[in-house]
Amino acid sequence: MLTMEQAQDTVMEFVSPLPAKRMPLLRALGCVLAGPVVAGIPLPLFDNSAMDGFAVIADDTLAATTEAPRRLEVTEDVPAGAPPERAMRPGTAARIMTGAPIPIGADAVVIVENTRPGPSGTVEILRPAKAGDNIRPAGEDIAAGAVALSPGQILGPGELGLLSALGKSEVNAIRRPRVAIVTTGAELVEPGEELRPGAIYNSNRVALEASVLRAGGEMAQCMHASDDEAMLEEALRSCREADLLLTTGGVSVGEYDFVKRVLARLGDIKFWRVLMKPGKPVAFGTALGRPLFGLPGNPISTLVTFELLVAPALRRMSGRRECLPLTVQATLLSDVRRRPGRREYRQAITRYCDNGYVVQPSEKRGSAMLTSTVGANSLLVIPEESEGMRAGDRVSTIVLGHGGDEL
Ligand code: AMP
Ligand code: MG
Repeated sequence: MLTMEQAQDTVMEFVSPLPAKRMPLLRALGCVLAGPVVAGIPLPLFDNSAMDGFAVIADDTLAATTEAPRRLEVTEDVPAGAPPERAMRPGTAARIMTGAPIPIGADAVVIVENTRPGPSGTVEILRPAKAGDNIRPAGEDIAAGAVALSPGQILGPGELGLLSALGKSEVNAIRRPRVAIVTTGAELVEPGEELRPGAIYNSNRVALEASVLRAGGEMAQCMHASDDEAMLEEALRSCREADLLLTTGGVSVGEYDFVKRVLARLGDIKFWRVLMKPGKPVAFGTALGRPLFGLPGNPISTLVTFELLVAPALRRMSGRRECLPLTVQATLLSDVRRRPGRREYRQAITRYCDNGYVVQPSEKRGSAMLTSTVGANSLLVIPEESEGMRAGDRVSTIVLGHGGDEL
């Protein structure tokens, strides 16, 4: 049986980044930039005012005070979005708005608060200005021709804003991995349908779809294959659009646990058990030329194995560098009892408190108890040899939905 580290290494070895694609900016949120973006224009594009006020020649304001203001003739209004009509002459000022271009010849902006209206078309400057005051010079953010974004950059709201400021409406980014999910189990009916005796609702379907979206993937297809080996094989073969295949259930050692057999027929099993709790039976391999995970059926096992094994694979396919889950150190808030054995991952709430993280594990610990996930944003890690942990212990907790390069 593999340790979690060995299983994660194996997964990383068999998945690689997908090709890049041009996409509209908003589609690229959270995606990884594929090539460098060079600024075609400087930012700011032209010298402009950082404040509402009056553009002046700084020398005209020397020694201005409230008692002895400098009176300047106001020659024009310069709103944002319109070029000034005149060059600035000594003894004049232009009323100017934030973001408006600085008139030629002006070298400072006096903020409104440091002025007062003077008689007939004049303004009184109450404080001296220095050259450069309240002016945002062209190119101070980035010069034309400079590299604005380098390949590998994760595109968040700020980076997308920068691309827009540079006039780009599309970006070349690694495309999102497309995932197909096949749920198994003759006992399952879809929510909204009628329950027959012995049946339960299919909850892994939506939990996995949501997990895929949160990990930056998108759904290609979602199917159900009862407990029928041929049906499962047929379903997997039909997922032509998918970059990664996921099944849930049918992967332990029960009589109906046929996922491994199908996986072996369609490709190559790399592992099928990992030393972890919950989720020991979890298969990984390549099938039909794509990575395939056979996740366990128990709802908590499904979520935990997704987070620890599938999400890293999706991040790798998305071109991210640090794909493994983000782990932080925290102080445990309540005692945890258990028998030593496999490394355990317990649903938990981690939060920042005073000067560090604290973690509260869920009381519920069954691998089918979905209420243990309510509010949980993390997985408390209980080391294999641990016989339990005490409140106050320093422990590791894995932040759900985050890779190492997200903090
Ligand atoms: P299995 O590995 O197929 O024996 O499934 C283990 C447990 O998980 C059983 O109790 C199943 O009923 C349950 N299970 C399997 N698939 C799902 C699913 N899609 N939604 C909810 N429970 C499931
Ligand atoms: Mg089953």
